[in-house]
This record gives sequence, C-alpha cells and structure tokens, in this order.
Amino acid sequence: MKQTRLVIGERKRFAYSGEQTNYIKDGIQIIETHRGCPHNCPFCFEPQLSIQFPIPKIISDKVEINDMNFLWQLNALDRIQELGSKTYDNKLVNYELVGGIDFRLINQDITDELFKNRFGIFNKEQKWQKGIRFAWDWHLDDQYKIKDCIKMLVKAGYKKDLCEVFMLSNWKISKPECEMKLDLLKVWGLRVCNCVWLRELGNSTIIPEFWNEKEINLFKNKCSLHNQAISFKLYADLKRAKRYLGKLI
Ligand code: SF4
Repeated sequence: MKQTRLVIGERKRFAYSGEQTNYIKDGIQIIETHRGCPHNCPFCFEPQLSIQFPIPKIISDKVEINDMNFLWQLNALDRIQELGSKTYDNKLVNYELVGGIDFRLINQDITDELFKNRFGIFNKEQKWQKGIRFAWDWHLDDQYKIKDCIKMLVKAGYKKDLCEVFMLSNWKISKPECEMKLDLLKVWGLRVCNCVWLRELGNSTIIPEFWNEKEINLFKNKCSLHNQAISFKLYADLKRAKRYLGKLI
C-alpha cells in the first residue's frame, strides 16, 4: 500500500465527535481545553477550527492537556493563569502540554506565565520537569525563530536539556535538511522527538514515499543517540562523544 499524499483538497481532517476529553489514567488527569489549529499544515489531520471548552473540575495534582494547539485560544494567557490557580488535595496542580506550544504564538509574557503556572513535562516516574515541547516541522530557515523561542523559554526558567522538539521525518523535508536541524539541536542542547510521518497510524504495510526505509531507520537511530548524548552530557566532551556515538553522529 502506498502512502497517501495529503495534498490540499484531499486531506481528510480529523472529524471530531464526542465530548470534551476528561478522564484519569494512572493517577494523571487527561483533559482537553480547546480543539483546532489555524495552520492547516498539509501533513496534519487537525481541522482549522477553534472550539473552546470550559476548564473541567480538576481531580488530580497532575494534569495532561492533550490539545493540539493550546495557545490558539484568544484568552490563552487567562487560561494559563486560571489553570495555574487550581489546587487538588491542598497541593498545587502541575501540568503538561502533550502537544507542546506553538513557537509562532509565544512571547515572553506567555512563556513566563507557562513556567510560573507549572506547565512542564512529566517524566516516566510522573515527576514534573522544567521542560516543554514545541514543534519544528518545517524548514531549516525557521532556525532564527526557534532560537528566539529557546531564549524566551530559558529566560522564563525552563531547562534546555529537558525541553523536547518535535521534528517531522519521512515527509517532504529531506533527510539532509532534517540532519542539519538536528545539528542545531546539538549545538543548542535540546532533545528531539522524531515524528515519523504516518507511522503513528500503526500501519506496518505503508511503503515510504518521501524517504526510503534505510533513511527512516538511520535518522531514527541518530535521534535516539542524540537524546542519549543530551542526557549524559556527551556533547561537551567531543572525544567521549565520538567514542560512544561512533560514525552515526
Ligand atoms: S501546527 Fe501542528 S496542530 Fe497545527 S496544523 Fe500544523 S501540525 Fe497540525
């Protein structure tokens, strides 16, 4: 089976139905505050709409927000502050924006408020971390905006090595260009979340159309080695990095 090109007009946007997401899993409350995104990226299924939900009753001190573009709400700053004022069982509530923040929609006030109101990332042990996610799906020439975004996050209090950057692979941005983006993340010291286009749909019979299987796997390895190098602070010691990472990085 061939991958389906999501060209304008052919895309089947995600058809939302049903109620606002709000449930508890393993002690973490998963909620939805807003649906839709203005950007209409050709590789994405999110519809170009904006539906805001009331903030549900908070019933855990750990909350994941699974909006695709949380900041695409006119009153995003108020929503951040409202969520930040919530307590559960006399404890302040910590948050994670699962889909990350949109670097096009931030400024220093928003990043400061996100940090102040405990929007971060939960690690595997469900411990809140001073990191946040954002996507760099498009071209290398967004590097200056990405660099500004990182500066704002660091100024707000976030730790670079705990932040994660979504990067789209197996799409029209070529492997060499994705590798150059990864090189910049090396220099800046941020982790990468490699999003292999259409792989997430779990269809193992898909034949890659833009990248070949070897490229997909090589890039996947590079991303995982890159994240290990960030965790173990290997990039600071080039000899050690070469010894551990060999030719792949
Ligand atoms: S910015 Fe993200 S959520 Fe919005 S359309 Fe693009 S990929 Fe989808």
